Amino acid sequence: MNPMTTKNREHKAELLDGTRLAEEIKTEVAAEVEQLRREHGITPCLVVVRVGEDPASAVYVRNKVRTSEALGLRSEHHALPVETTTAELLALVERLNARDDVDGILVQLPLPAGVDERRVIEAIDPAKDVDGFHPVNIGRLSLGQETLAPCTPVGIIELLERNSIPIRGAHACVVGRSQIVGRPVAQLLLQRDATVTICHSRTRDLASITSQADILVAAIGRAGFIGGEFIKPGATVIDVGMNRVTDEEEAVKFFGEDAQKRIEAIRARGYTLIGDVHPAEADRVAGRRTPVPGGVGLLTVAELMRNTLKAARWRRGL
Ligand code: NAP
Repeated sequence: MNPMTTKNREHKAELLDGTRLAEEIKTEVAAEVEQLRREHGITPCLVVVRVGEDPASAVYVRNKVRTSEALGLRSEHHALPVETTTAELLALVERLNARDDVDGILVQLPLPAGVDERRVIEAIDPAKDVDGFHPVNIGRLSLGQETLAPCTPVGIIELLERNSIPIRGAHACVVGRSQIVGRPVAQLLLQRDATVTICHSRTRDLASITSQADILVAAIGRAGFIGGEFIKPGATVIDVGMNRVTDEEEAVKFFGEDAQKRIEAIRARGYTLIGDVHPAEADRVAGRRTPVPGGVGLLTVAELMRNTLKAARWRRGL
């Protein structure tokens, strides 16, 4: 048998552990929060605003509030009824902007259909915009300036850097150009001297581009879309996607020898989570990859905590 074939069969990508990194970041933030309290008598405060009854948003918000409290930050949760108007939301944002004890304001997206999301985001004081979605913060990011940058992209960079994956000079390919993941992560990679290619749904012959990348970031929203042919052998693959697989046969196709526990999850709660990357195929080709769950997902909240701390410091010139 061809030794290369044997070697390829035995190869399995190393998993990049986002769970451990999220814990590390949270421990660091908790220590800095304590230091800020001891030295300056300040406890940073995060305010989370949620409108309507979207169950996923409710889970995300609860998690953000709980994590703030666990790290010693103060937090406030405003749960508003679904019929809240744009004007009412703008008035609340104005009040929060004016309060000196509030350091971070996060309006959980998506907002109900009748609310003007853009006006609400643009009303947040950029100095308190811990999601990093305000045009001023996006502008600063594009100019390569220090800013409050979106949390998931910052977490991705942290994961690369703390695992000593070289970014400078690397070819980084980002699939997806959303405001919350694709575009900002491309900016952060560019700031760190990667050669960046951004791909999207209109990109022609996607695999021929992605398969040249040393670092491949998939932020698409399509279960297991990035198969082996999209990946350069030995590349680092960052899987941002969070999709649900409900079909047991599909789980076998995606997870190969790891399928059994996924099937058990489907039987127990109706679904299992999968990213935008085909895990079994990526394992055969990539050098390293992030798992889903346990990869990028948990970093977002950890980085939100860090942004709140940063906002509290910057506003006071500390
Ligand atoms: P989004 O706003 O829907 O954007 C998806 C992007 O993927 C778009 O730019 C789209 O291109 C591109 N795309 C769609 N189909 C494609 C295809 N066949 N080939 C190439 N590009 C394609 O999604 P998002 O908010 O960035 O989220 C992406 C995924 O990440 C989702 O699964 C989401 O749940 C997950 N996510 C996870 C976290 C986290 O882990 N903390 C945070 C945010 C998002 P066009 O622009 O041309 O339409």
